[in-house]
Amino acid sequence: MNDLIPPYEAVLARIAAAAQRAGRRPEAIRLVAVSKTHGPDVVRDAVDAGMTLFGENKVQEAAWKIPLSPAAAHWHLIGHLQSNKAKQAVRLFEAIHSVDSAHLADTLEAAARQAGTRPEIYLEVNVSGEPSKYGLTPEALPGVIEHILANTHILTLTGLMTMAPFDPEPEHARPHFARLRALRDDMEARFGIGLPHLSMGMTCDFEVAVEEGATDVRIGTALFGARPKITRPAPSPDTTSGAF
Ligand SMILES: *Cc1c(COP(=O)(O)O)cnc(C)c1O
Repeated sequence: MNDLIPPYEAVLARIAAAAQRAGRRPEAIRLVAVSKTHGPDVVRDAVDAGMTLFGENKVQEAAWKIPLSPAAAHWHLIGHLQSNKAKQAVRLFEAIHSVDSAHLADTLEAAARQAGTRPEIYLEVNVSGEPSKYGLTPEALPGVIEHILANTHILTLTGLMTMAPFDPEPEHARPHFARLRALRDDMEARFGIGLPHLSMGMTCDFEVAVEEGATDVRIGTALFGARPKITRPAPSPDTTSGAF
């Protein structure tokens, strides 16, 4: 008996119910199973249970884990990325949810050209304005999109990502998710582009995120249980960790 089947089915049922409440098709939402801190053995069980898409927040951890994991697994980077890890990132990940500057986009573009890969990128937006969060301010977003549209030809910008402030009450996340969707709609109209992906919602708030239009929900704890507790580093230019 694979222990991951019951939590996986429970999460899928909750996503489907939230989609139904919002009049959305459940197939429009994909589950990014956040496997950070868990080993390739867990990924193997997850693939056997039916999961296909995995999220990691650290390039180094993923570089170790991915070659040891089933080839059927697809990988997205969801954590903060430093430019000096761009070369590895474009080889490991099909999509990078955490692009937060024009400079990082340029670095990824050059790295992907060299590696011969074509990852999708999402721009991370700090919609809540919390100082401890990574991401572009909503005000900075149009300028970065303009830069990317003019300068990147290999990477495709396909979405936006956000993290709501930590709060045990999921309803408190709703305005932040609604804001990201409104920003997406504005950017699509302003630039005449499609930004189909909205990466938002985690274990504590994914149903609200689905109701507000999420297409990629990033879920770890509800699938794999609690992670070992580690301290959360404050953003700084030389930290190698993600938000957790
Ligand atoms: C860890 C992490 C998640 C998943 O968090 P859970 O609360 O365990 O579901 C989602 N997004 C990002 C960016 C993360 O770092």
